[in-house]
Amino acid sequence: MKIRVLGAGFAGVRAALDLDRLLGGRGAEISVINRDRYHELITEVYRPAAGRDVKVLAVPLEDIFAGTSVEVVQGTVTDIRLRERQVVLDRERVLKFDRLVVALGSEPEYFAIPGLRENSLPLNSLNSAENIRRHIDAMLARAAGQQDPERRRALTTVVIAGAGLTGVELAGELADQRPALARRHGLQPEEIRIIAVEAAPDILPGFDQASIDAATNALVRKGVSLILGSPLQAVEPGAVVLADGNRVEARTIIWSGGVRANRLIEKCFTTRTRGRAVVNSYLQSVDEPSVYVVGDAALAINPRTGQPMPPTAQHAVQQGRLAAYNIWAELKGRPLRGYRARTAGTLATVGTDAGLARIGPVTLFGRFPVIVKDLNTWRYILSLGGPRLLLKVLWRHGRLRWARA
Ligand SMILES: Cc1cc2nc3c(=O)[nH]c(=O)nc-3n(C[C@H](O)[C@H](O)[C@H](O)COP(=O)(O)OP(=O)(O)OC[C@H]3O[C@@H](n4cnc5c(N)ncnc54)[C@H](O)[C@@H]3O)c2cc1C
Repeated sequence: MKIRVLGAGFAGVRAALDLDRLLGGRGAEISVINRDRYHELITEVYRPAAGRDVKVLAVPLEDIFAGTSVEVVQGTVTDIRLRERQVVLDRERVLKFDRLVVALGSEPEYFAIPGLRENSLPLNSLNSAENIRRHIDAMLARAAGQQDPERRRALTTVVIAGAGLTGVELAGELADQRPALARRHGLQPEEIRIIAVEAAPDILPGFDQASIDAATNALVRKGVSLILGSPLQAVEPGAVVLADGNRVEARTIIWSGGVRANRLIEKCFTTRTRGRAVVNSYLQSVDEPSVYVVGDAALAINPRTGQPMPPTAQHAVQQGRLAAYNIWAELKGRPLRGYRARTAGTLATVGTDAGLARIGPVTLFGRFPVIVKDLNTWRYILSLGGPRLLLKVLWRHGRLRWARA
């Protein structure tokens, strides 16, 4: 019985660990296939994008799966042949499967806005965070030697287009890093302008008003300019054009306005709503029941509301867990479990000293949610590999810092 898990993000890692616990070493060969050799904590990447040192961003897959029966295969999935039950890696290597969990995540959705893809930087991975950090550094370095005030202003302006959770977290973090960035490049902190542009009338669309107000106040206090109710009409090299005709010159334009499922999903599955695979209530693909699709790649429906689940890490983990359980149940001849969405809460930071935590009906603001968010990351690492993994991660970070020093 070959069980393959495609993608080692939040959903895939959970699915593979649970499959190992339920079936590992008992007639099932479990493998997890991922582009990189590590599991990225995408939820943290806004911090290094703003230039902040973060304790844990990526955990090597070999550490997560040490002591399990899960084989880690590094490769890029280039095709999934449902009828033949095959997965193609790097266009040449063909792997067979009996059961498949597809957890290939998402990519930016550009909504066909002219020039957006070409002229903006996405924030959706460690590499993209590194690109943003380097780009901002390069622009500020050029600004320091620029005498023309308009050009200097464009070089020191960062537009964050899309002020949902990701955009707000990045804007807050960048605002807090402004003094350090200015010092490094011999600029005045106020010269570095951070502008968050949002199509909806408020930031954090979908959040309750109290959270929106608290995050708005925190951003404004930190000197972030907000342009609200302004959809992007086009993005040109070095400028965004808004629907009302206004132009903002900026040499750094970051797109955080939406995601869609990994393009491969559209190629291989029946999809709806931003390219997400249509699944039944057990999270099986409607095209092939031996294939489960989970996380951002899946159009999982909340049975209570009938609405698609938002693409979040906590729901991806739950779906990965359910796919593993249902594969085990199928093989044992037990009834499958239907998907039931649970939302533990929402955590967001606005820089290093402010945040919001929505837990049930209660919303907390201030410094406490920032601490909770950090603790939540440690709790997550513990859930993957217990204290052993946590110590390894901390040890590696300590050594890296020491080596850099
Ligand atoms: C900046 C940012 C902040 C966020 N903050 C939060 C937050 O605070 N809370 C929250 O709940 N959610 C947050 N999210 C959303 C959350 O990160 C996603 O919902 C979650 O990562 C989805 O998990 P997944 O397993 O479906 O996909 P991912 O975690 O993206 O994993 C997909 C995996 O598949 C691999 N992969 C992709 N294509 C291929 C291929 N062709 N071949 C092989 N491997 C491939 C990738 O390398 C990756 O390892 C944030 C997202 C971003 C971008």
